[in-house]
Amino acid sequence: MKLGIVGLPNVGKSTLFNAITNAGAESANYPFCTIEPNVGVVAVPDERLKVLTDMYHAVKTTPAVVEFVDIAGLVRGASKGEGLGNKFLSHIREVDAIVHVVRCFEGTDVIHVEGSVDPVRDMETINLELIFSDLEMVERRLDKDKKLLKGDKKYESEIVLLERVKAALESGLPARSVERTPEDDAVLATVALLSEKPVIYAANLSEEDFKAGYEKNPHFTRLRAQAEKEGAGVLPICAKIEEELSSMDEEEKDLFLADLGLEQSGLDRLIRESYALLGLISYLTAGEPEVRAWTITRGTKAPQAAGKIHTDFERGFIRAEVVAYDDLVRCGSLAAAREKGLLRSEGKEYVMQDGDVVLFRFNV
Ligand code: GDP
Repeated sequence: MKLGIVGLPNVGKSTLFNAITNAGAESANYPFCTIEPNVGVVAVPDERLKVLTDMYHAVKTTPAVVEFVDIAGLVRGASKGEGLGNKFLSHIREVDAIVHVVRCFEGTDVIHVEGSVDPVRDMETINLELIFSDLEMVERRLDKDKKLLKGDKKYESEIVLLERVKAALESGLPARSVERTPEDDAVLATVALLSEKPVIYAANLSEEDFKAGYEKNPHFTRLRAQAEKEGAGVLPICAKIEEELSSMDEEEKDLFLADLGLEQSGLDRLIRESYALLGLISYLTAGEPEVRAWTITRGTKAPQAAGKIHTDFERGFIRAEVVAYDDLVRCGSLAAAREKGLLRSEGKEYVMQDGDVVLFRFNV
Protein backbone atom coordinates (compact mmCIF):
# COMPACT_ATOMS: atom_id res chain seq x y z
CA MET A 1 0.00 0.00 0.00
CA LYS A 2 1.31 3.41 -0.97
CA LEU A 3 0.23 6.61 0.78
CA GLY A 4 1.17 10.02 -0.56
CA ILE A 5 1.83 12.84 1.90
CA VAL A 6 0.68 16.17 0.47
CA GLY A 7 0.05 19.65 1.83
CA LEU A 8 1.11 23.27 1.40
CA PRO A 9 4.71 24.22 2.26
CA ASN A 10 5.55 24.69 5.96
CA VAL A 11 2.68 22.63 7.34
CA GLY A 12 4.90 19.88 8.81
CA LYS A 13 5.16 17.32 6.01
CA SER A 14 8.92 16.87 6.27
CA THR A 15 8.70 16.63 10.05
CA LEU A 16 6.12 13.86 9.73
CA PHE A 17 8.12 12.21 6.96
CA ASN A 18 11.26 12.26 9.14
CA ALA A 19 9.30 10.51 11.85
CA ILE A 20 8.24 7.91 9.29
CA THR A 21 11.74 7.23 7.99
CA ASN A 22 13.20 7.11 11.53
CA ALA A 23 10.54 4.62 12.55
CA GLY A 24 11.08 2.84 9.26
CA ALA A 25 11.00 -0.90 8.80
CA GLU A 26 14.27 -2.55 7.77
CA SER A 27 14.01 -1.88 4.07
CA ALA A 28 16.30 -4.78 3.16
CA ASN A 29 13.39 -7.10 4.03
CA TYR A 30 11.19 -5.47 1.45
CA PRO A 31 12.82 -5.77 -1.93
CA PHE A 32 9.44 -5.15 -3.56
CA CYS A 33 9.30 -1.61 -2.18
CA THR A 34 10.82 1.15 -4.23
CA ILE A 35 13.29 2.75 -1.88
CA GLU A 36 13.88 6.30 -2.95
CA PRO A 37 14.76 9.35 -0.89
CA ASN A 38 11.14 10.42 -0.79
CA VAL A 39 9.79 6.98 0.19
CA GLY A 40 9.54 5.73 3.77
CA VAL A 41 8.51 2.18 4.60
CA VAL A 42 6.86 1.46 7.96
CA ALA A 43 5.53 -1.68 9.58
CA VAL A 44 1.79 -2.06 10.11
CA PRO A 45 1.42 -2.43 13.89
CA ASP A 46 0.01 -5.88 14.67
CA GLU A 47 0.25 -7.42 18.16
CA ARG A 48 -0.71 -10.83 16.78
CA LEU A 49 2.70 -11.24 15.16
CA LYS A 50 4.52 -11.25 18.50
CA VAL A 51 2.12 -13.84 19.96
CA LEU A 52 2.56 -16.13 16.95
CA THR A 53 6.33 -15.64 16.93
CA ASP A 54 6.44 -16.90 20.54
CA MET A 55 4.05 -19.77 19.83
CA TYR A 56 6.02 -21.04 16.84
CA HIS A 57 9.46 -20.11 18.23
CA ALA A 58 9.91 -18.39 14.91
CA VAL A 59 13.32 -17.05 14.00
CA LYS A 60 11.97 -14.21 11.91
CA THR A 61 8.96 -11.89 12.13
CA THR A 62 7.89 -9.85 9.14
CA PRO A 63 5.09 -7.32 9.49
CA ALA A 64 3.00 -5.99 6.63
CA VAL A 65 4.27 -2.62 5.47
CA VAL A 66 2.97 0.67 4.21
CA GLU A 67 4.96 2.96 1.93
CA PHE A 68 4.73 6.68 2.51
CA VAL A 69 5.70 8.93 -0.37
CA ASP A 70 6.63 12.52 0.44
CA ILE A 71 5.03 14.59 -2.30
CA ALA A 72 6.39 18.02 -1.39
CA GLY A 73 6.07 21.09 -3.53
CA LEU A 74 2.35 21.28 -4.09
CA VAL A 75 1.40 24.95 -4.10
CA ARG A 76 -1.47 27.13 -5.21
CA GLY A 77 -1.40 27.10 -9.01
CA ALA A 78 0.22 23.66 -9.32
CA SER A 79 -2.34 22.55 -11.88
CA LYS A 80 -1.29 25.58 -13.97
CA GLY A 81 2.34 24.55 -13.65
CA GLU A 82 3.24 26.70 -10.61
CA GLY A 83 6.00 25.36 -8.37
CA LEU A 84 6.92 22.01 -9.81
CA GLY A 85 3.28 21.75 -10.73
CA ASN A 86 2.30 18.84 -12.84
CA LYS A 87 5.27 16.73 -11.78
CA PHE A 88 3.83 16.56 -8.28
CA LEU A 89 0.37 15.89 -9.49
CA SER A 90 1.73 12.91 -11.42
CA HIS A 91 3.26 11.55 -8.20
CA ILE A 92 -0.18 11.63 -6.61
CA ARG A 93 -1.49 9.51 -9.48
CA GLU A 94 0.74 6.66 -8.30
CA VAL A 95 -0.49 6.36 -4.71
CA ASP A 96 -3.45 4.41 -3.28
CA ALA A 97 -4.54 7.14 -0.89
CA ILE A 98 -3.63 10.63 0.18
CA VAL A 99 -2.54 11.85 3.61
CA HIS A 100 -3.22 15.55 3.45
CA VAL A 101 -1.28 17.40 6.16
CA VAL A 102 -2.98 20.60 7.26
CA ARG A 103 -1.40 23.15 9.56
CA CYS A 104 -3.31 23.78 12.77
CA PHE A 105 -0.33 25.07 14.76
CA GLU A 106 0.20 28.80 15.24
CA GLY A 107 3.73 30.13 15.77
CA THR A 108 5.05 33.31 14.32
CA ASP A 109 8.51 31.84 13.78
CA VAL A 110 7.22 29.50 11.08
CA ILE A 111 6.02 31.46 8.09
CA HIS A 112 2.73 30.43 6.55
CA VAL A 113 2.75 30.64 2.76
CA GLU A 114 -0.72 32.18 2.77
CA GLY A 115 0.07 34.62 5.58
CA SER A 116 -2.15 33.16 8.31
CA VAL A 117 -3.16 29.83 9.81
CA ASP A 118 -6.46 28.73 8.25
CA PRO A 119 -6.77 24.97 7.81
CA VAL A 120 -10.06 25.06 5.90
CA ARG A 121 -8.69 27.51 3.32
CA ASP A 122 -5.52 25.39 3.04
CA MET A 123 -7.36 22.13 2.49
CA GLU A 124 -9.48 23.79 -0.17
CA THR A 125 -6.41 25.26 -1.87
CA ILE A 126 -4.85 21.84 -2.35
CA ASN A 127 -8.14 20.15 -3.17
CA LEU A 128 -8.83 22.72 -5.87
CA GLU A 129 -5.48 22.01 -7.51
CA LEU A 130 -6.43 18.35 -7.71
CA ILE A 131 -9.87 19.25 -9.03
CA PHE A 132 -8.46 21.62 -11.70
CA SER A 133 -6.09 18.94 -12.87
CA ASP A 134 -8.96 16.41 -12.99
CA LEU A 135 -11.17 18.79 -14.93
CA GLU A 136 -8.54 18.95 -17.64
CA MET A 137 -8.35 15.17 -17.77
CA VAL A 138 -12.12 14.78 -17.92
CA GLU A 139 -12.51 17.41 -20.64
CA ARG A 140 -9.82 15.80 -22.74
CA ARG A 141 -11.48 12.40 -22.40
CA LEU A 142 -14.89 13.84 -23.20
CA ASP A 143 -13.56 15.38 -26.43
CA LYS A 144 -12.13 12.04 -27.43
CA ASP A 145 -15.29 10.12 -26.53
CA LYS A 146 -17.51 12.53 -28.44
CA LYS A 147 -15.47 11.93 -31.59
CA LEU A 148 -15.65 8.17 -31.05
CA LEU A 149 -19.40 8.33 -30.43
CA LYS A 150 -19.98 9.00 -34.12
CA GLY A 151 -18.75 5.51 -34.93
CA ASP A 152 -19.83 3.66 -31.81
CA LYS A 153 -22.87 4.19 -29.57
CA LYS A 154 -21.22 2.43 -26.65
CA TYR A 155 -19.54 5.71 -25.68
CA GLU A 156 -22.91 7.25 -24.85
CA SER A 157 -23.08 6.03 -21.24
CA GLU A 158 -19.45 6.92 -20.66
CA ILE A 159 -20.14 10.46 -21.81
CA VAL A 160 -23.14 10.74 -19.48
CA LEU A 161 -20.97 9.61 -16.56
CA LEU A 162 -18.11 11.95 -17.43
CA GLU A 163 -20.51 14.90 -17.77
CA ARG A 164 -21.71 14.16 -14.22
CA VAL A 165 -18.13 14.01 -12.95
CA LYS A 166 -17.36 17.26 -14.76
CA ALA A 167 -20.34 18.99 -13.14
CA ALA A 168 -19.21 17.84 -9.69
CA LEU A 169 -15.66 19.05 -10.30
CA GLU A 170 -16.92 22.40 -11.60
CA SER A 171 -18.85 22.92 -8.39
CA GLY A 172 -15.68 22.23 -6.40
CA LEU A 173 -16.51 18.66 -5.37
CA PRO A 174 -14.00 15.82 -5.64
CA ALA A 175 -14.62 13.03 -8.16
CA ARG A 176 -14.97 10.51 -5.31
CA SER A 177 -18.19 12.27 -4.26
CA VAL A 178 -19.92 11.21 -7.50
CA GLU A 179 -22.41 8.35 -7.10
CA ARG A 180 -21.64 5.42 -9.34
CA THR A 181 -22.18 1.78 -10.19
CA PRO A 182 -19.38 -0.80 -10.30
CA GLU A 183 -19.37 -0.34 -14.11
CA ASP A 184 -18.86 3.40 -13.63
CA ASP A 185 -15.99 2.59 -11.30
CA ALA A 186 -14.31 0.60 -14.03
CA VAL A 187 -14.63 3.51 -16.47
CA LEU A 188 -13.33 6.04 -13.94
CA ALA A 189 -10.36 3.82 -13.14
CA THR A 190 -9.22 4.34 -16.74
CA VAL A 191 -9.34 8.14 -16.35
CA ALA A 192 -7.11 8.02 -13.21
CA LEU A 193 -8.43 11.12 -11.49
CA LEU A 194 -6.60 12.55 -8.48
CA SER A 195 -9.70 13.54 -6.55
CA GLU A 196 -10.90 9.92 -6.74
CA LYS A 197 -8.26 8.89 -4.21
CA PRO A 198 -9.41 8.40 -0.63
CA VAL A 199 -8.11 11.08 1.75
CA ILE A 200 -7.22 11.33 5.41
CA TYR A 201 -6.61 14.81 6.75
CA ALA A 202 -3.77 14.94 9.27
CA ALA A 203 -4.38 17.99 11.46
CA ASN A 204 -0.92 19.03 12.60
CA LEU A 205 -1.21 20.65 16.05
CA SER A 206 1.41 22.28 18.25
CA GLU A 207 2.81 20.23 21.14
CA GLU A 208 0.93 22.42 23.62
CA ASP A 209 -2.43 22.15 21.85
CA PHE A 210 -2.01 18.45 21.32
CA LYS A 211 -1.26 17.85 24.98
CA ALA A 212 -4.03 20.21 26.14
CA GLY A 213 -6.57 18.31 24.00
CA TYR A 214 -7.25 18.90 20.33
CA GLU A 215 -11.00 19.20 20.91
CA LYS A 216 -10.31 22.66 22.32
CA ASN A 217 -8.47 23.83 19.26
CA PRO A 218 -10.75 25.88 16.97
CA HIS A 219 -8.57 25.20 13.91
CA PHE A 220 -8.99 21.50 14.48
CA THR A 221 -12.75 21.60 15.04
CA ARG A 222 -13.31 23.73 11.92
CA LEU A 223 -11.19 21.40 9.86
CA ARG A 224 -13.09 18.40 11.16
CA ALA A 225 -16.46 19.96 10.39
CA GLN A 226 -15.35 20.62 6.82
CA ALA A 227 -13.91 17.13 6.39
CA GLU A 228 -17.16 15.61 7.67
CA LYS A 229 -19.03 17.35 4.85
CA GLU A 230 -16.74 15.47 2.44
CA GLY A 231 -17.11 12.23 4.35
CA ALA A 232 -13.35 12.20 5.01
CA GLY A 233 -11.58 11.35 8.26
CA VAL A 234 -9.40 13.72 10.28
CA LEU A 235 -6.54 12.54 12.41
CA PRO A 236 -5.16 14.91 15.05
CA ILE A 237 -1.40 14.61 15.11
CA CYS A 238 1.64 16.49 16.34
CA ALA A 239 4.41 15.98 13.82
CA LYS A 240 7.02 17.27 16.31
CA ILE A 241 5.98 14.67 18.91
CA GLU A 242 6.02 11.96 16.23
CA GLU A 243 9.54 12.99 15.31
CA GLU A 244 10.62 12.70 18.96
CA LEU A 245 8.86 9.35 19.39
CA SER A 246 10.47 7.91 16.28
CA SER A 247 13.96 8.19 17.79
CA MET A 248 13.02 6.41 21.05
CA ASP A 249 13.27 2.71 21.88
CA GLU A 250 10.09 0.77 22.71
CA GLU A 251 10.32 1.29 26.48
CA GLU A 252 10.92 5.04 26.28
CA LYS A 253 8.17 5.30 23.71
CA ASP A 254 5.62 3.57 25.98
CA LEU A 255 6.50 5.85 28.90
CA PHE A 256 6.28 8.94 26.73
CA LEU A 257 2.89 7.91 25.30
CA ALA A 258 1.53 7.01 28.75
CA ASP A 259 2.62 10.45 29.90
CA LEU A 260 0.51 11.94 27.12
CA GLY A 261 -2.39 9.62 27.99
CA LEU A 262 -2.13 7.84 24.64
CA GLU A 263 -2.07 4.16 23.78
CA GLN A 264 -0.44 4.42 20.41
CA SER A 265 1.58 6.91 18.41
CA GLY A 266 -0.03 9.14 15.81
CA LEU A 267 1.86 7.28 13.14
CA ASP A 268 0.40 3.95 14.27
CA ARG A 269 -3.07 5.47 14.24
CA LEU A 270 -2.44 6.89 10.79
CA ILE A 271 -1.43 3.47 9.45
CA ARG A 272 -4.42 1.73 11.05
CA GLU A 273 -6.86 4.33 9.77
CA SER A 274 -5.41 4.16 6.28
CA TYR A 275 -5.82 0.40 6.37
CA ALA A 276 -9.47 0.82 7.33
CA LEU A 277 -10.01 3.59 4.78
CA LEU A 278 -8.71 1.42 1.97
CA GLY A 279 -10.63 -1.66 3.11
CA LEU A 280 -7.45 -3.62 3.80
CA ILE A 281 -7.00 -6.59 6.12
CA SER A 282 -4.08 -8.87 6.98
CA TYR A 283 -3.81 -12.61 6.89
CA LEU A 284 -0.96 -14.38 8.62
CA THR A 285 1.44 -17.20 7.84
CA ALA A 286 3.26 -18.90 10.68
CA GLY A 287 6.04 -21.42 11.00
CA GLU A 288 9.43 -21.77 12.61
CA PRO A 289 11.33 -20.00 9.84
CA GLU A 290 9.01 -17.00 9.75
CA VAL A 291 5.81 -15.42 11.04
CA ARG A 292 4.49 -12.91 8.58
CA ALA A 293 1.53 -10.63 7.86
CA TRP A 294 0.24 -10.11 4.32
CA THR A 295 -1.95 -7.25 3.15
CA ILE A 296 -5.06 -7.96 1.08
CA THR A 297 -8.26 -6.13 0.22
CA ARG A 298 -11.36 -7.18 2.15
CA GLY A 299 -13.25 -9.70 0.00
CA THR A 300 -10.14 -11.31 -1.53
CA LYS A 301 -10.52 -15.04 -2.19
CA ALA A 302 -7.98 -17.65 -1.10
CA PRO A 303 -6.15 -18.16 -4.44
CA GLN A 304 -5.59 -14.43 -4.96
CA ALA A 305 -4.44 -14.09 -1.35
CA ALA A 306 -1.98 -16.93 -2.00
CA GLY A 307 -0.81 -15.02 -5.06
CA LYS A 308 0.48 -12.27 -2.75
CA ILE A 309 3.12 -14.73 -1.54
CA HIS A 310 3.98 -16.10 -4.97
CA THR A 311 2.24 -16.21 -8.34
CA ASP A 312 2.84 -20.01 -8.37
CA PHE A 313 0.72 -20.31 -5.23
CA GLU A 314 -2.19 -18.75 -7.05
CA ARG A 315 -1.71 -20.67 -10.30
CA GLY A 316 -1.35 -24.05 -8.61
CA PHE A 317 -3.78 -23.42 -5.75
CA ILE A 318 -5.35 -26.58 -4.33
CA ARG A 319 -6.70 -25.50 -0.95
CA ALA A 320 -6.00 -23.37 2.09
CA GLU A 321 -5.73 -24.72 5.62
CA VAL A 322 -7.13 -21.98 7.77
CA VAL A 323 -7.52 -21.32 11.45
CA ALA A 324 -8.78 -18.03 12.89
CA TYR A 325 -6.10 -16.29 14.95
CA ASP A 326 -8.33 -16.15 18.06
CA ASP A 327 -9.09 -19.89 17.84
CA LEU A 328 -5.44 -20.72 17.43
CA VAL A 329 -4.42 -18.65 20.44
CA ARG A 330 -7.22 -20.09 22.54
CA CYS A 331 -6.09 -23.63 21.70
CA GLY A 332 -2.43 -22.82 22.26
CA SER A 333 -1.11 -24.71 19.23
CA LEU A 334 -2.01 -25.73 15.71
CA ALA A 335 -2.19 -29.40 16.76
CA ALA A 336 -4.72 -28.56 19.48
CA ALA A 337 -6.74 -26.46 17.04
CA ARG A 338 -6.79 -29.35 14.59
CA GLU A 339 -7.97 -31.76 17.31
CA LYS A 340 -10.84 -29.44 18.13
CA GLY A 341 -11.78 -29.27 14.46
CA LEU A 342 -10.94 -25.58 14.20
CA LEU A 343 -8.44 -26.02 11.40
CA ARG A 344 -10.55 -25.81 8.26
CA SER A 345 -9.79 -26.85 4.72
CA GLU A 346 -11.02 -24.13 2.36
CA GLY A 347 -11.33 -24.12 -1.41
CA LYS A 348 -10.89 -21.52 -4.11
CA GLU A 349 -14.14 -19.68 -3.36
CA TYR A 350 -13.18 -19.01 0.27
CA VAL A 351 -13.20 -15.31 1.18
CA MET A 352 -10.26 -14.53 3.44
CA GLN A 353 -10.87 -13.00 6.86
CA ASP A 354 -8.68 -10.63 8.85
CA GLY A 355 -6.38 -12.65 11.11
CA ASP A 356 -6.73 -15.96 9.26
CA VAL A 357 -3.62 -18.04 9.92
CA VAL A 358 -3.09 -19.90 6.68
CA LEU A 359 -1.11 -22.65 5.04
CA PHE A 360 -1.64 -22.84 1.28
CA ARG A 361 -1.47 -26.18 -0.54
CA PHE A 362 -0.56 -25.92 -4.19
CA ASN A 363 0.79 -27.80 -7.21
CA VAL A 364 3.97 -26.59 -8.78
P1 GDP B 1 6.85 21.18 5.20
O1 GDP B 1 7.29 22.33 4.35
O2 GDP B 1 5.39 20.97 5.10
O3 GDP B 1 7.63 19.94 4.95
O4 GDP B 1 7.08 21.61 6.72
P2 GDP B 1 8.23 21.24 7.76
O5 GDP B 1 8.04 19.88 8.28
O6 GDP B 1 9.55 21.60 7.19
O7 GDP B 1 7.83 22.22 8.94
C1 GDP B 1 7.89 23.62 8.77
C2 GDP B 1 8.22 24.24 10.09
O8 GDP B 1 7.14 23.99 11.01
C3 GDP B 1 9.46 23.67 10.74
O9 GDP B 1 10.17 24.75 11.34
C4 GDP B 1 8.93 22.73 11.80
O10 GDP B 1 9.80 22.65 12.90
C5 GDP B 1 7.62 23.38 12.18
N1 GDP B 1 6.67 22.37 12.63
C6 GDP B 1 6.32 21.23 11.97
N2 GDP B 1 5.45 20.51 12.71
C7 GDP B 1 5.25 21.20 13.85
C8 GDP B 1 4.46 20.97 15.01
O11 GDP B 1 3.78 19.94 15.15
N3 GDP B 1 4.50 21.93 15.98
C9 GDP B 1 5.26 23.06 15.82
N4 GDP B 1 5.26 23.95 16.79
N5 GDP B 1 6.01 23.29 14.77
C10 GDP B 1 6.01 22.39 13.79
